Amino acid sequence: QKSKKERAWEIYGLSRDYYRLLLSKEVGQRAMQYLAKRNLTKTSQETFQLGYAPAGWDALTKYLLSKGVSRDELVKLGLAQSKENGCYDRFRDRVIFPIWDSQGRVVGFGGRTMGDDPPKYLNSPEGEYFNKGKLLYALHISRRGIREQGFAVLLEGYIDVVSVYQRGVTNAVASLGTAFTREQGRLLMSYTHNVVIAYDGDAAGVKAAIRAAEILQELGCKATIATIPDGMDPDDFIQAQGLEGWSNMIAKALPLVQIKLLQAVKQYGIGNSASKQRILQEVLPNLAAVASSIELEEAVQHTATVLQVNWETVLDEIKSYRINNR
Ligand code: ATP
Ligand code: MN
Ligand code: MN
Ligand code: MN
Repeated sequence: QKSKKERAWEIYGLSRDYYRLLLSKEVGQRAMQYLAKRNLTKTSQETFQLGYAPAGWDALTKYLLSKGVSRDELVKLGLAQSKENGCYDRFRDRVIFPIWDSQGRVVGFGGRTMGDDPPKYLNSPEGEYFNKGKLLYALHISRRGIREQGFAVLLEGYIDVVSVYQRGVTNAVASLGTAFTREQGRLLMSYTHNVVIAYDGDAAGVKAAIRAAEILQELGCKATIATIPDGMDPDDFIQAQGLEGWSNMIAKALPLVQIKLLQAVKQYGIGNSASKQRILQEVLPNLAAVASSIELEEAVQHTATVLQVNWETVLDEIKSYRINNR
């Protein structure tokens, strides 16, 4: 007797196989062209089990019904929606990215449009089996690279992971959108205590990267933030700069305090003592959270240099912050 979970994995597995098969057929030609346009190779399509969900209303539904899956199961697993006169597939005319748990079992899907029709990405609905906030995309594929290289790279999107993996970056995972959770942090920390965050190079990406770094740091994980040039994301970047450019960018990842300083200086300027005070207030919580004394010394020195004040002043501020926030 299969458990409910095992049954779910089985049905998601059948769906993945169906989508994969269709990608290789005539109906999947446009999807194939789309992947080619995105420069995603055959090998990547295989490693990441990419597929195509056809444009009709109930292709997957019909297929799964013929395999003995019930309507009830289809609906519960978020693969179809029940309407008065039938059952309709959730994913239609989209490129399909299976999403796995850390053991490599399919627990949901992401589907990208090939055109501009929103939403650009449609994921499986949140539910009993699919919890975005508890999963990291491609963890079961990248865990070997993470172990070998001693650190993980955290990205926003699944295309980013596929794209960088294809070009030799085998230690990347994605948080499936931008809101990194503590659960994802804990999951990642069972593989490494060293994470470089490389979110998209836009305002939203920087903000989300800072939040993710704070979460990781609170959990006791070393987290640094890499800066991708404005308007680019990891996929764009590695296509433009190659693996060498990527590695240089990752090597230049900065600690949270330095990123926050850069942001605050950009926002307030360091023209006068009032703005310096503001900037210091902004980074104080992060300075106070630095646990290692060597890292703290470096952070204090750096902050003092940027603000052109004595390091004793910065340290005093940290001390009073710590006392006041105990
Ligand atoms: P592409 O390069 O295909 O345009 P992207 O991977 O750069 O896509 P972003 O818009 O930067 O996509 O979004 C990053 C990630 O956020 C996506 O991979 C996806 O996981 C998630 N995401 C984005 N938009 C949505 C959406 N509308 N619904 C659900 N998830 C989304
Ligand atoms: Mn983005
Ligand atoms: Mn992109
Ligand atoms: Mn992006």
